Amino acid sequence: MSFTLAIVGRPNVGKSTLFNRLVGKKLALVDDTPGVTRDRREGDARLGDIHFKIIDTAGFEDASGDVLPARMRRQTEAAIAAADVCLFLVDARAGIMPLDEEIARILRKDETPVILAANKCEGKQGEAGRMEAFRLGLGEPLGISAEHGEGTADLYGALLPFA
Ligand code: GDP
Ligand code: MG
Repeated sequence: MSFTLAIVGRPNVGKSTLFNRLVGKKLALVDDTPGVTRDRREGDARLGDIHFKIIDTAGFEDASGDVLPARMRRQTEAAIAAADVCLFLVDARAGIMPLDEEIARILRKDETPVILAANKCEGKQGEAGRMEAFRLGLGEPLGISAEHGEGTADLYGALLPFA
């Protein structure tokens, strides 16, 4: 039995970095410029002994404002519809932004289970951002670092019920 995980979140929170780490190949383009992932990417991921399909959602250059562009909203909704569970990533260093709130609203309305994770939590700086993410109303945020491979045991525990 396998399941499909969709990584959703506004541009630049580290979705592609996490996708690459879980797939183990440089399949997703990672860049410092927000919105470099043009298309939705799918891969076969593994975390410990859990194998699953993973979807990396696109980011868009025009998503820097307070309103989620229609195209990004459609991408997010399509990924959610295709997924058994969503991993909603926020940036613990940047803090919670209006776009995060808007994506949270989409996720709260949907029946697909959501795992909330605050990325870029390495070091001490991340903890405040992680606590801020409680206000998204999606439960306790996991603290992870996609770049440094931290928080993977917590992520494993969160995915285990779906495996
Ligand atoms: P995406 O737009 O959500 O796909 O984000 P990317 O994966 O392209 O990453 C955006 C930026 O955040 C890049 O510069 C990454 O190197 C950086 N990044 C990703 N994960 C982490 C992390 O765990 N810690 C820190 N400090 N930076 C990260
Ligand atoms: Mg990306």
